[in-house]
Amino acid sequence: SAKVIDGKAVAKQSKYEIKIEVLNMKDAIGVVPGLDVILVGDKKDSTEEYLLNHIVDYNENPKVHGILIQLPLPRHMDEARILNAVTIDKDVDGLHPLNIGLLAKRDRDPFFVSCTPKGSIELLHIYDITIKGKRAVIIGRSNIVGLPVSLLLQREDAIITILHSRTENPEEIVRQEDIIVSAAGKANMVRGSWIKSGDVIIDVGINPIDVRPRKSSRLPVGWDVCYDEACKVASAITLVPGGVGPMTISMLLSNTLSSAKRVLKFE
Ligand code: NAD
Repeated sequence: SAKVIDGKAVAKQSKYEIKIEVLNMKDAIGVVPGLDVILVGDKKDSTEEYLLNHIVDYNENPKVHGILIQLPLPRHMDEARILNAVTIDKDVDGLHPLNIGLLAKRDRDPFFVSCTPKGSIELLHIYDITIKGKRAVIIGRSNIVGLPVSLLLQREDAIITILHSRTENPEEIVRQEDIIVSAAGKANMVRGSWIKSGDVIIDVGINPIDVRPRKSSRLPVGWDVCYDEACKVASAITLVPGGVGPMTISMLLSNTLSSAKRVLKFE
């Protein structure tokens, strides 16, 4: 059965290493990396101009090295306009169009790569999974997951196929691939019969499967890939829970640390 890709353990180690670096930085220059996470919520009275003014303040504040805008924003806000307002050298979730553009162009590195996509690919690196020359399918083409994942894999010389909601016969396509990154947001969409022996599976999907209110526990979730079936065929598969999810946070901390090191010229 498949080797389990344990994102929780990888993220824990990575957070430990980040902590040591932050402490070293504090000792040496008395500064720690600063991250601002902007949570807008869904209030009707949350106004776009107010949020934009905040972003301008954070852009100019030397204590802030990273700005993250929690998505999705309320529907009445112009998401593209707000993401564009973040200065690209503090855009720790890599969603500014210039950072996406730099990622796509391949001749220069972006300032930052989006955290969930970066964390997904980092798992392949840590587990020594060959990417170069392999066929990789990305299920989903969203700006925040599918697109950057596909660009990252392309940078590493994989042969890319991207599926989306209008793709016909996804099963036939997925069956030809070596690496499957699923970010469709559909519980149990990828079945064991879609997978061939030896495939590597990174399951990004975290999908609510029960909308009935429950008093004490969190809503149950399902993953894009049917784990019980897939683990019998694949050579490696992300742990659920504890796969890509924990990596997102550690990549955010890592991007913020890199930003602070760059600005402060701290090695
Ligand atoms: P999204 O809804 O914006 O995009 C989903 C994409 O999947 C779209 O491009 C759509 O065309 C495609 N899709 C939908 N149904 C499909 C189908 N039947 N066949 C092929 N493609 C299909 O979602 P998103 O924001 O990209 O997130 C995707 C999933 O990843 C969700 O489950 C989300 O909860 C999860 N997610 C996890 C993390 C994490 O930290 N692990 C972070 C972000 C998102």
